Amino acid sequence: MTSLKGRAVQVAGAGVLGLAIAQTLAEAGAKVTVFDPEPRGRASAVAAGMLAPVFETILDPAAADHFEILMSAREAWPAFAARNGITLHRSGALYSGARQPQARASIEQRGLKAEPRSEGLFSADDWRIEAGPSLALLRRRSSELGVRFRAEGLETPSPGDDAIAATGFLPVRWAPESRVITAIKGQILQVSGVDLNIGASDPVRRRDGGYICPGEGGGLIGATMQPGRTDLEPDGALDRMLAEVFPDLAGVGVAGKVRVGIRGAAPDGLPLVGPSARAGVWLAMGARRNGWLLAPLVASMIRAYLAGDDPGPWAERLDARRFAAPDLEA
Ligand SMILES: Cc1cc2nc3c(=O)[nH]c(=O)nc-3n(C[C@H](O)[C@H](O)[C@H](O)COP(=O)(O)OP(=O)(O)OC[C@H]3O[C@@H](n4cnc5c(N)ncnc54)[C@H](O)[C@@H]3O)c2cc1C
Repeated sequence: MTSLKGRAVQVAGAGVLGLAIAQTLAEAGAKVTVFDPEPRGRASAVAAGMLAPVFETILDPAAADHFEILMSAREAWPAFAARNGITLHRSGALYSGARQPQARASIEQRGLKAEPRSEGLFSADDWRIEAGPSLALLRRRSSELGVRFRAEGLETPSPGDDAIAATGFLPVRWAPESRVITAIKGQILQVSGVDLNIGASDPVRRRDGGYICPGEGGGLIGATMQPGRTDLEPDGALDRMLAEVFPDLAGVGVAGKVRVGIRGAAPDGLPLVGPSARAGVWLAMGARRNGWLLAPLVASMIRAYLAGDDPGPWAERLDARRFAAPDLEA
């Protein structure tokens, strides 16, 4: 691995992508400063924490063509989790929706095992972490590696330093390619006071349009997809999703805390990763529903780019300049 010793890097954004990048660059010897004015809009702390290449690409049409990328991102997780002290739950996922025959065929076509069970179709290849505690661990490890944190936005990067836009759904002026990113509001219910009978080592329960994930509180039920919305207010969309996808929970009186986050998305559903047309500027944003899953892969690609190493097989598909040429003067 080529050293980044002596390189000064400014990272905008302390979500999972910004933190994963900051610590990966610091491990390679760079002097890293992370800027973030506030947690508003930070999707990373809100997420369910699924690392789900299998069912994300089967149940989310926008991710149907992303299996190889998402699976290779998942492969980067065991080493990344170990470095950060993150508990990786390899407890799989169970799909009980209407498309089980197609899902089974699709999983087997990929050379993976699909196990029909009485409750649904099980795959052991989707994993998960707990987002809130994992974010705290990433920040702690980054600090241990000497990463500095500043509670302000990065409005104008210092000349001569490398600047990385890891600002989630928020475009930044100095990384013009970020203008293609659009927002998708997401709401998720952190259940309390009701026993959903889902323990930490149980699989995620997936249906068409929603999931129940073990984890913080009594489990998480998510999540809404509300394109174009950037407000952080809970609204009726979550109740509508619950009624539609989990009618069997209606009598249980399921309740808890609604967590709201805003995802960023590029037009093809894949993140923007790599150099801007502007020298010294790099992007790592727009990871849509899979920012946790993608973070270690994205961080290692950014490290390779900065070091002049090979960024790997996904460089072209994730190229930050792959959409219309931005107006660099604006
Ligand atoms: C309800 C929900 C459930 C989800 N579930 C999953 C899941 O199960 N698995 C999964 O992999 N993904 C999931 N996601 C998606 C995942 O959360 C995101 O893809 C990921 O968190 C994006 O991380 P990020 O670091 O790019 O952005 P964010 O976490 O949004 O962080 C961006 C940060 O940049 C900061 N910022 C903005 N502008 C500036 C600036 N100018 N200067 C400095 N800082 C700035 C913001 O304050 C923010 O803190 C979910 C998302 C939601 C909303």
